[in-house]
Amino acid sequence: MYLFTGEKKDCCGCMACVPVCPVNCIAVTVDEEGFEYPVRDAARCTDCGKCTAVCPVMNKPAPTPAEGFPAAYAAWSRDEHTRRESSSGGVFPELAKQFLREGGVVFGAAFRDDFHAVHHIRIDSPDALPQLQGSKYVQSSTVGVFPQVKELLGSGRKVFFSGTPCQVAGLRNFIGGDTQGLTTCDLVCHGVPSPGVFEKYMNEQEEKYGAKTTEYSFRHKRTGWNFMEVHQEFSNERTYHSMDWADNFMHGFLKNVLLRPVCYRCPFYTLPRIADITLADYWGVATKYPRYDDDKGTSLVLTHSKKGNELLHVGNALIIHQTDIAHGIANNAHLNHSATEPACRSAFFDAFRHGSFRAAASIYMKNSDVMKRKIRRMVKRAVWRLKALIK
Ligand SMILES: Cc1cc2nc3c(=O)[nH]c(=O)nc-3n(C[C@H](O)[C@H](O)[C@H](O)COP(=O)(O)OP(=O)(O)OC[C@H]3O[C@@H](n4cnc5c(N)ncnc54)[C@H](O)[C@@H]3O)c2cc1C
Ligand code: SF4
Ligand code: SF4
Ligand code: SF4
Repeated sequence: MYLFTGEKKDCCGCMACVPVCPVNCIAVTVDEEGFEYPVRDAARCTDCGKCTAVCPVMNKPAPTPAEGFPAAYAAWSRDEHTRRESSSGGVFPELAKQFLREGGVVFGAAFRDDFHAVHHIRIDSPDALPQLQGSKYVQSSTVGVFPQVKELLGSGRKVFFSGTPCQVAGLRNFIGGDTQGLTTCDLVCHGVPSPGVFEKYMNEQEEKYGAKTTEYSFRHKRTGWNFMEVHQEFSNERTYHSMDWADNFMHGFLKNVLLRPVCYRCPFYTLPRIADITLADYWGVATKYPRYDDDKGTSLVLTHSKKGNELLHVGNALIIHQTDIAHGIANNAHLNHSATEPACRSAFFDAFRHGSFRAAASIYMKNSDVMKRKIRRMVKRAVWRLKALIK
């Protein structure tokens, strides 16, 4: 157990352990790589074992396999604006809207007001949904969130919680047995980059552009869903656009350099899942279902329970096609394995600790991979365009 061994590969940072400690001896700290970790005051610890019991890495909650599940779908929102503002097909906001219409409460990841950090927030109205839309490729802090969910469930409110698979697992352990009012949605997860690195990167971007950030998107769809583009707007009207391979932070994420240590041995990527629904990009959808890829965003949706499947099919906001689950899994790397730790990771973090992000990135991220990625993307785009023309 991380709190007793300090083994970082054993802590996903869900923070379920913090509020369960009966003597309040677990605090939250930030390590030298910029990730949040819990820390135990050994002098006050009574060895009661409650933190170990709730820890999802030590005690992964057992999924409850239901007959006929998982089922796989290609899906996207009928509403063009909703779809454009989301990273994949805009399925999450449509599920959330449905839940809010029924009087429920939704939790998900939002940028802090200055866009330098990401944390989980509660929303009660569809007006606040844009804050949760879009993937933020930074670990989202859940400090203080699980007790709020438990209190709401205790007062009879229905809760829709969306997060990484480890956050959903931590929440399930924290809530305990009765999850009647709780619906959970997780993501296929590549891994989460360091919040400390992101903060430094954002400071350097603002210094370079001479203004504060007013908008940030990791997955702007200006050049289509198949091609990831970072988009940033500043208070002095300047804008920054960059394809993923040319942006140092996005490149470091996709090359696995910036990830939390546990993500290289993720205990949660496999099926069956603990969540009611899993959302992902339906990469490779065109190889079997070309009609489902119009480059505006197609979600792969896996439902794991009757509750999740019913939520997906309520109303008419989504276009949904059942697909072959084996195809969806085969085409999505992080349903098959964890991210591989690159040899340069620790050297990068050493350099990052002692200097700027830009300097560390210029040594460890500007390598021949950038050119390979660029060429691969150009070929992919050309093939995609050709197929669209033939269609
Ligand atoms: C860190 C991360 C890694 C991912 N890796 C993959 C991958 O390898 N393969 C793949 O197919 N899909 C991956 N996804 C999922 C994918 O990018 C989309 O988020 C997903 O398909 C939902 O898209 P949508 O259009 O339905 O909704 P969107 O509107 O894009 O919804 C975003 C949802 O993601 C949640 N979210 C956003 N950022 C975070 C965060 N930092 N932590 C926790 N929850 C967050 C929000 O709460 C919201 O529920 C990843 C997402 C994240 C956040
Ligand atoms: S063993 Fe008990 S007292 Fe000690 S840190 Fe864990 S929860 Fe707190
Ligand atoms: S409960 Fe969560 S935050 Fe606490 S040690 Fe386990 S994984 Fe880490
Ligand atoms: S890769 Fe695994 S451990 Fe890392 S954030 Fe995702 S679900 Fe959690």
